[in-house]
Amino acid sequence: MLLAKERQLVVDYGKKLVNLGLTKGTGGNISIFDRQQGLMAISPSGMDYFSVGPGDVAVISLSEGRQIEGNYKPSSEYAMHRIFYDRREDINAVVHTHSTYATTLATMGKGLPASNYLVALAGPDIRCAPYRSFGTEDLAEIAYEYMKDRYCVLLANHGLLAGSKNIADTFNIALIMEECCQTYYLASLAGGANILSSEEMKEMMARFKTYGQIKK
Ligand code: 13P
Ligand code: ZN
Repeated sequence: MLLAKERQLVVDYGKKLVNLGLTKGTGGNISIFDRQQGLMAISPSGMDYFSVGPGDVAVISLSEGRQIEGNYKPSSEYAMHRIFYDRREDINAVVHTHSTYATTLATMGKGLPASNYLVALAGPDIRCAPYRSFGTEDLAEIAYEYMKDRYCVLLANHGLLAGSKNIADTFNIALIMEECCQTYYLASLAGGANILSSEEMKEMMARFKTYGQIKK
């Protein structure tokens, strides 16, 4: 089986997406890219995350532009995943969610400002890309454009998209940005959020480069 390890990770993180409340039903999708082989493992379209096995995860060859393994058709958002692997060398995993607070801001057409130092995990701030229909090249292009120099973007009237060097980091960004959207939203309701300066966010972004256990 091609990309056996990556397909198992797509299955495991799909369940986490639901268990941690980042999506409901069949919303959202996950992919992992093997840059050496030029192959993307992506969740199947419209399937219950708890009924998906590794053999159901679609494998797409980016150079051939076609599915080469997997029992079901790939996520309808495969273009929005592929565009980041094609154009950004720093992204090898993509997670898309419909999490409540990110989607609330996106429904107001608002991005997430530097309301918390943790926003620096994904950029100095998170933009909101204008609305485009789901599953279209248009949505892929606008998501790519608005995620420039960032690891996360909100999609107007839709949800959140994160991309980073591996699936663990990407999932963490999706989870933490949802939490930041929540606290920002609550603070806004309660009277207003204080926003960190761009100097402080620059410093935090630099500090995150050495945060945690650095692999030797
Ligand atoms: P898929 O089930 O096709 O991945 O679509 C879900 C979704 O979130 C569309 O934006
Ligand atoms: Zn979606």
